[in-house]
Amino acid sequence: MHRFFKVLPICLLGLVLFIPSALADNTVNRISGNTRYATAVEASKKGWSSASTAVIVGGDAYADTISAIPYAYQKNAPVLLTNKKNLSSETKNRLKELKTKNVIIIGGTPAVSNGVATQIKKLGISVKRIAGNTRYETAAKVANAMSSTSKAVVANGFVYQDSVAVIPYAAQNGYPILFTNEKTLNSATSGTIKSKGIKQTIVVGGTNSINSKLFSKLPSPTRITGKNRYDLSVNIAKKFSLRTSNTYIANGFRYPDAVIGAALAAKQNKAIILTNGENLSKEPRTFIGDKNIKYFSIMGGTPSVASKVANQLKNPAVGKTIFIDPGHGDQDPGAIGNGLKEKDVNLDIAKRLNSKLYSAGALPVMSRSNDTFYSLEERVKRGANAKADLFISIHANSYTPSSNGTETYYDKNYQSANSKRLAEEIQPRVVSAFGTRNRGVKTAGFYVIKNSKMPSVLIETAFITNSSDASKLKSATLKDRAAKGINDAVSVYYR
Ligand SMILES: [Zn+2]
Repeated sequence: MHRFFKVLPICLLGLVLFIPSALADNTVNRISGNTRYATAVEASKKGWSSASTAVIVGGDAYADTISAIPYAYQKNAPVLLTNKKNLSSETKNRLKELKTKNVIIIGGTPAVSNGVATQIKKLGISVKRIAGNTRYETAAKVANAMSSTSKAVVANGFVYQDSVAVIPYAAQNGYPILFTNEKTLNSATSGTIKSKGIKQTIVVGGTNSINSKLFSKLPSPTRITGKNRYDLSVNIAKKFSLRTSNTYIANGFRYPDAVIGAALAAKQNKAIILTNGENLSKEPRTFIGDKNIKYFSIMGGTPSVASKVANQLKNPAVGKTIFIDPGHGDQDPGAIGNGLKEKDVNLDIAKRLNSKLYSAGALPVMSRSNDTFYSLEERVKRGANAKADLFISIHANSYTPSSNGTETYYDKNYQSANSKRLAEEIQPRVVSAFGTRNRGVKTAGFYVIKNSKMPSVLIETAFITNSSDASKLKSATLKDRAAKGINDAVSVYYR
């Protein structure tokens, strides 16, 4: 028995050490090469180990690439890019590795020269070209080479960002992607709609891309729009319920990576979402949070999608709506002491938390962002209206001058266990940030945490009425550290 008791603490230690590795951040992979050609090669490696047929397009010809992908999908062919004058060396090597026997060049000689075709033939590969004089004609010819279908995607041929997210859906369903300009349907496009017997069209983009008059002339059209390119990509994924278990992420302003990513997403039956390359855009954040997506593949290197975005995606709290409620405001100063008003301290910490959460990939919403008063009912209502995932109320304490320390409250009314878990992540981090006495995690029926239905906590950061605690609440460095602690706690909570 004695031996058993000696072993037990070691077992517990083992368990404690094991838990952090079992609870993981989100998984983020990156598919990239040093050039757009190399990135396309890397993408092909994720989808194909060999390919008797490959599709080759010009590295600058996004329209040709977009129209090529549904066709390439039908041929189970990877899409590779080339420099227009010379077959890019990465692409040449990849054709050999794939043991490719047939290459289909899509696009005219301004995009892929005859010299490139000759270089491919010299590898012992047969070459066919599908090309028209314009992007409209090329897309029409590609559509005619595809299996029969009654549906097509129609997009503005000069607005690549409209098409990216719909490419996997179009490819998997065998729908060609046809091009138009904003106002008039090109004869090649209208001819193909007729000859293929297209009865329904999916229009991607707003009226700036395809105006209402032209839209109404298309066969049974359905339009998908967005407030911006990021929003549109999300709306496409939602509209077609695209599989998001592992989602591709691309910079909405870098077409080579985005379009090549769409080709791979098609092959793998995944969605591709666009973002700003420097900071994960709001619309994809919301989508990721709603869908609880945990696995991501980034298209392109850090010039395309920065490390910051990769870190935001890795954060298990990415896209979660975090409601921050700085207590009191305006005519209600809260606790007063040692030259401090509680309302100001609460707001200062809340603003720091807001910026850290946003920078980390979450979607913070503040009950107040200036010296305004809202009732407790109003704060609860705002949290509910924001569809917040978590509610964090920030306060400072007051009592006798000798009372000091930090405490975090939760209520048992709603989400008791989760609220407690959140409080337990926050409390030690705030204590360590301020170097305050740890008064522990407690329960109390404070209005905002009693009535908020999501997991909710109320932090009493320190005592304004205690001179030592107050000096800590005056320190910008310590308040920043406390905000960082709460931000870290939110991430850990979601692991
Ligand atoms: Zn208060």
